[in-house]
Amino acid sequence: MPSSPNGSGDSRAMRESMLSAAHAKALAAIVGEAFFLQSEADRYAYARDRLPYGLFRLRAGDLPGTLPSAIVIPADEAQLVEIVKLARREKIRLIPFGAGSGVLGGAISICGEVIVDLKRMNQLLEINETDCTVTVQAGMNGGHFEEQLAARGFTANHLPQSLFMSTVGGWAACRGAGQVSSRYGKIEDIVVGLKAVLPDGRMLEVRPVARRAVGPSIKDLWVGSEGVFGFITELTLRIGHKPEVQKGVTLAFPSLQSAMDAMREISQAEGRPSVMRLYDEEESRQRTEGMALFAQKPILAILQFAGPKVLAEAEETLALGICAAHGASVATNEPYDHWQLARYQSYSIKWQTADYYMDTVEITGSWTALPKMYERMREAILGLQPGAYFGAHWSHIYPEGACQYMTLRLPPQPQQQALELHHKAWDLLQSICLELGGSIAHHHGVGIFRNEWLRAELNTGMDMLQILKDGIDPDNLVNPGKVGLRAPQGAVSLAPRSVA
Ligand SMILES: Cc1cc2nc3c(=O)[nH]c(=O)nc-3n(C[C@H](O)[C@H](O)[C@H](O)COP(=O)(O)OP(=O)(O)OC[C@H]3O[C@@H](n4cnc5c(N)ncnc54)[C@H](O)[C@@H]3O)c2cc1C
Repeated sequence: MPSSPNGSGDSRAMRESMLSAAHAKALAAIVGEAFFLQSEADRYAYARDRLPYGLFRLRAGDLPGTLPSAIVIPADEAQLVEIVKLARREKIRLIPFGAGSGVLGGAISICGEVIVDLKRMNQLLEINETDCTVTVQAGMNGGHFEEQLAARGFTANHLPQSLFMSTVGGWAACRGAGQVSSRYGKIEDIVVGLKAVLPDGRMLEVRPVARRAVGPSIKDLWVGSEGVFGFITELTLRIGHKPEVQKGVTLAFPSLQSAMDAMREISQAEGRPSVMRLYDEEESRQRTEGMALFAQKPILAILQFAGPKVLAEAEETLALGICAAHGASVATNEPYDHWQLARYQSYSIKWQTADYYMDTVEITGSWTALPKMYERMREAILGLQPGAYFGAHWSHIYPEGACQYMTLRLPPQPQQQALELHHKAWDLLQSICLELGGSIAHHHGVGIFRNEWLRAELNTGMDMLQILKDGIDPDNLVNPGKVGLRAPQGAVSLAPRSVA
């Protein structure tokens, strides 16, 4: 049962669609009856994304926000522009929706918005083999996109774990990172141009060129915008040739610090293995069971060298030399092989269905701060209650620092107590990160769940974002209340609250 805006658990108001019959008819006329959904079942299906807090509430028969008023699925840009213009005129609130794999609640309705599902806009438009770019519609599924590129001998080198359950537009909207980011960068390094529909229905184009110096980057206002500035409809991305060779190596390090030092030095020595993954002792143990070498050297790291053979071999020599200098030994390759096999799978379901409270939090820290961040965050989570779990890995590695990706789990317990502890866990991790100079998000975005910590990082930059939002969307119609921006009056707050 969904909760009301005041969190009382009285769902009646929010179960009713907020759309008038005339507005429903007008939207259906734009996309056709088959692509306008308003049944309660459809509205429930689109009522949440993969925000773990949303799942916790669902398990208790509740929702994180409200039911959306309807779902509309445009075929193309022209239909989308018509929808947005109608919404602006009639003051209908909209949420851009890719595949709903976001984990921060960016696509969750909080005041009966209409979901605009972009998945019919799913065509790969052009591969330019000379420039090594691809132009693609925003709603294309990531897995299909990579398959079509692969058929032509290319890859976009953006391979998130959620590849098959996310869209290309969603990657850009969330400022995501894939598994080969240490070599090819995050999505902001891969997107070279885009088209978008503003909240008043006007089109915007960032033309695809290698670099520019025409004022601040408009592209970067869209990459990471999470739907608050409008709808990304088309993207041009950098692509590369499928690698000539690809080789994985598994390493055992004597300590976490020695492994961190090795990853840092490889990156600072201009080595760019396509995959660099380092696990803390807890996560290493789960992946090295029965491997004698890890009894002495308990820290696991996985490296992958890929690309033109001559380059990959040189990088392997450089990287393994640095690892050896830090006491690492090369192990047999089961952990690498297992990672390769499972790299697009989602593990959380096992724990979530057993009533655990599991979540993941990713932050960016400098090499100076990371060891301290790790220790303090680990202590903070393990100290929350007996049976709390904490594990971490580092798989997006840069010369200046790295992403620390943490998995937390609280044991089954009464819902209200768990929601409060879960919020406390987030608060501890985000606050320690801020105190030690990090960024509170590396690639999952802000959505709605990170709103409360955003100003502490962006400071007056947050005011600039709000001014921009107010300027292009004065009625706060497109994805209101996300990315730390003002929510409409009466919108549901995602703070822990009791279930009815
Ligand atoms: C098991 C699992 C693994 C994951 N692994 C990764 C990972 O490795 N790397 C990573 O970066 N993320 C990962 N994620 C998070 C998530 O998959 C990404 O954030 C993804 O980019 C979201 O894409 P989506 O199409 O599903 O977007 P949605 O969830 O539909 O939307 C996310 C946000 O973007 C907005 N949006 C979506 N499309 C558009 C558009 N065309 N124009 C404007 N706004 C838009 C929405 O309004 C919303 O605010 C993972 C999630 C899960 C569940």
